[in-house]
Amino acid sequence: MLKFNQKRMLVTGGAGFLGSHLCEKLLLEGHSVICVDNFFTGNKKNILHLIDDSNFELVRHDITFPLYLEVDEIYNLACPASPVHYQYDPVQTIKTAVHGAINMLGLAKRTGAKIFQASTSEVYGDPEIHPQKESYWGRVNPIGIRSCYDEGKRCAETLFFDYHRQHDLKIKVSRIFNTYGPRMHPDDGRVVSNFIVQALQGDDITIYGDGSQTRSFCFVDDLIEGFLLFMNSEDDFTGPVNLGNPNEFTILELAEKVISLTNSNSKLIFRPLPEDDPKQRQPDISLAKDKLDWKIKTELDEGLKHTINYFEKK
Ligand code: NAD
Ligand code: UDP
Ligand code: UDP
Repeated sequence: MLKFNQKRMLVTGGAGFLGSHLCEKLLLEGHSVICVDNFFTGNKKNILHLIDDSNFELVRHDITFPLYLEVDEIYNLACPASPVHYQYDPVQTIKTAVHGAINMLGLAKRTGAKIFQASTSEVYGDPEIHPQKESYWGRVNPIGIRSCYDEGKRCAETLFFDYHRQHDLKIKVSRIFNTYGPRMHPDDGRVVSNFIVQALQGDDITIYGDGSQTRSFCFVDDLIEGFLLFMNSEDDFTGPVNLGNPNEFTILELAEKVISLTNSNSKLIFRPLPEDDPKQRQPDISLAKDKLDWKIKTELDEGLKHTINYFEKK
């Protein structure tokens, strides 16, 4: 039986990097958590420490197929997120983004659950506006190798807003910018995990292009706090809302930081820039600050230390 104030939470993609931190946090708050994952990029090891918690349940399921459960809130995170992973099976990626969203919205419609969507800064594509505000519509290639993810996530946002307008669903659409931290995949090709693993192993650090492109990196704990503040905000605040750390660094600066924090002898090597790789990315988070009173607590050096520590143990 549920305790007073305890909610039944569904986290899709709960065995992934962000999902596992979210499941952990929701359990700490005393909720009952169902983690749904097909283990495409997720790993049981990420949630092994939660398995014995009587409030935790793990379901192996692919959200491109219907799912019937009774829940109060849904966090829809299921989707491969790194370019290497989402380009591995692009058709499955767009099915997960679109069919998965339809199924989870159908579930929310039937149960009356509030539903959160993990959208992405990729909806802005390679932006001409800097930093990116939520009002910017983006510049996305519809037929490139990143499109399965970018357009999939854009279509999912459309579905969320249409279910909201047409069926009065309570929706929360977040646009997440690059996030890093413990439990990132060591081999997903993302820049923070690549550089840390390369530096720890003394391998060359692979800079794509000339390294002058920028990203803004958010530590996972800050992001998850943003998720909860957003989910618990007034129903009329649907988003989309940017969640990320606005401090911008070039990829070269990141490489130098990682080398210095790991005391590594690794050398930089330059590789071709992948197709459609955005040159700049920085969130404008004034909306999240204003509506959610969300504050960034962990800056890059400190967050990198936690992450390096995790990879060292691994
Ligand atoms: P991740 O790959 O670690 O997690 C995704 C999880 O979804 C994995 O556990 C995977 O097995 C699961 N999954 C994939 N397809 C599924 C399906 N069809 N059915 C059920 N489960 C499925 O990635 P992450 O970094 O934790 O990302 C989580 C969400 O946040 C994704 O939706 C991603 O698009 C979004 N996001 C992440 C970032 C970031 O920087 N990490 C940035 C923007 C958006
Ligand atoms: N759905 C689901 N779980 C539910 C309710 C619906 O997976 O508890 C799926 C169902 O497969 C459906 C989709 O969500 O195709 C969209 O549901 P909706 O009610 O909007 O559409 P309909 O059932 O009318 O096609
Ligand atoms: N990148 C890099 N070396 C790597 C991995 C990535 O220089 O080993 C660059 C990549 O080209 C991009 C940036 O780092 O410009 C961030 O890449 P990531 O895949 O982490 O995220 P995204 O492009 O989705 O922001």
